[in-house]
Amino acid sequence: MARDLGTKYICFKCGTKFYDLKKPVPSCPKCGADQRDAPVAKPQTARQQRAAAAKEAEEAEVPKTPEEEAEEKEEDEEEDAADDE
Ligand SMILES: [Zn+2]
Repeated sequence: MARDLGTKYICFKCGTKFYDLKKPVPSCPKCGADQRDAPVAKPQTARQQRAAAAKEAEEAEVPKTPEEEAEEKEEDEEEDAADDE
């Protein structure tokens, strides 16, 4: 069984999945990036993850683009003109 691969990493630079093979320096076999240099940007706690998900959902709920609204306005103006005739 391949159980002696050490810690699993996903390279923060190129996305390659690899194991550090218990080496002192976990460097990507593809691009050579030292994984200890990886920027810590992802939310760590479940609470933070929920907050991030909620924010995404909120942003996705925007009902209309400015373009769509402009189109509707144009239609209304046309109706008004028809009434005047
Ligand atoms: Zn890499």
